[in-house]
Amino acid sequence: MALEFDPACTFCRIVAGTIPSAGIYADDAVFAFRDRNPVAPVHVLVVPRQHIPGINSPLAQDGVLLSSLIRVANQIAGSEGIAGSGYRLLWNVGPDAGQSVFHLHLHLIGGRPLGWPPG
Ligand code: AMP
Ligand code: ZN
Repeated sequence: MALEFDPACTFCRIVAGTIPSAGIYADDAVFAFRDRNPVAPVHVLVVPRQHIPGINSPLAQDGVLLSSLIRVANQIAGSEGIAGSGYRLLWNVGPDAGQSVFHLHLHLIGGRPLGWPPG
């Protein structure tokens, strides 16, 4: 399958390596890197290599891809040492959630107690 690439998309460029990032995981379909504005001691973004605009996109309704993103996020939680203390996995969708990058990304956030409800 040819992977879609959007040259205007920051995360496509991070996956391609033309924008630097603190990468911590890579496989054929998934890439993960540290958020440049972390909201907690652990804040990692887990993204598909393929350009998919968000979790609400029809392209995101691929169970194999979604389970890969979640599996990688859980694995990184383990390697970051927060599997026992707990963490949050989330997708922001649209303006009220503050989505700012339109390339699917799963946030892995942890390393401190997280408030609920979120702001
Ligand atoms: P969202 O609000 O869900 O769209 O989250 C986008 C996230 O991407 C934010 O937490 C940003 O801090 C993060 N971000 C944007 N550009 C970069 C970048 N070049 N490297 C790392 N993280 C980034
Ligand atoms: Zn993209």
